[in-house]
Amino acid sequence: MKMIFRKTLLYQSSVEYADYCINHVEGCAHGCKFPCYAMMMKKRCGIIKSYKEWLQPKIVANALELLDREIPRYKHKIRFVHLCFSTDPLMYKYPEVADLTLKIIDRLNMDNIRCTVLTKGIYPKVLVNTKKYGENNEYGITLISLDKEFKKRLEPYSAPYKDRIKSLKYLHNKGLKTWISMEPYPTPNLVEQDLEKILKEVSFVDKIIFGKLNYNVTSSQFGVNGDFYHNCADMVIEFCKDNGIEYHIKYGTQKKDNRKTKKIFIKNTAQDPGLKYSK
Ligand code: SF4
Repeated sequence: MKMIFRKTLLYQSSVEYADYCINHVEGCAHGCKFPCYAMMMKKRCGIIKSYKEWLQPKIVANALELLDREIPRYKHKIRFVHLCFSTDPLMYKYPEVADLTLKIIDRLNMDNIRCTVLTKGIYPKVLVNTKKYGENNEYGITLISLDKEFKKRLEPYSAPYKDRIKSLKYLHNKGLKTWISMEPYPTPNLVEQDLEKILKEVSFVDKIIFGKLNYNVTSSQFGVNGDFYHNCADMVIEFCKDNGIEYHIKYGTQKKDNRKTKKIFIKNTAQDPGLKYSK
């Protein structure tokens, strides 16, 4: 696997998923075609030239050395670290990526820094070893469909939906916190599907985040886009309330909602009121 070296690793993010964030890989072999926002940004900045290049991930070879240097510097400010925002930490078919991700989680947890993780890959079972990995980490998968044909078109090289769910459920069954990122949720002209069926598949999780699809030409051509997302969000809210699941509807998904984003994974402390049910 190709390698790169970076000067810094930990950074503070304004994205609502994150407090501090780590992207220890450049590129992503999952190759989503929504399109992938991270790939668009890297192209715009001239860091990568093509989709083909994006598909060939390069690992940050000095990631652990950087962490050793940066953790003492930022530790007092960090509330949690998100892996990852502009790549996938458990790239399906790249065990080197999972190895480094596990080492990073271990290193952060050693300093009592909790992690939130989001993937379209498969969770390694070793994460249930809470003597090594912290029990306060939150493990999520992106799940926006159960339709294999849709996955082939839009998320061609990611892990199969059923395998993603199975690996997440394994962590849940062992007592770990799990969540679903149900975004970018596709419009019916991309795939005809039953949202409730998808929700039922993941009713075991602690938290669901739902959001619409942006930057997609086909989706924006769907005539009643606004009504569609408004109704989907209502369905998610009702489902979560009925099943005692925390939820967050990304701002702008429902009609007349132009609020700015807010932090989703902040802990429930006096300083950080956090999320119970959120709209
Ligand atoms: S998994 Fe995430 S980072 Fe990777 S291509 Fe898909 S959207 Fe982009």
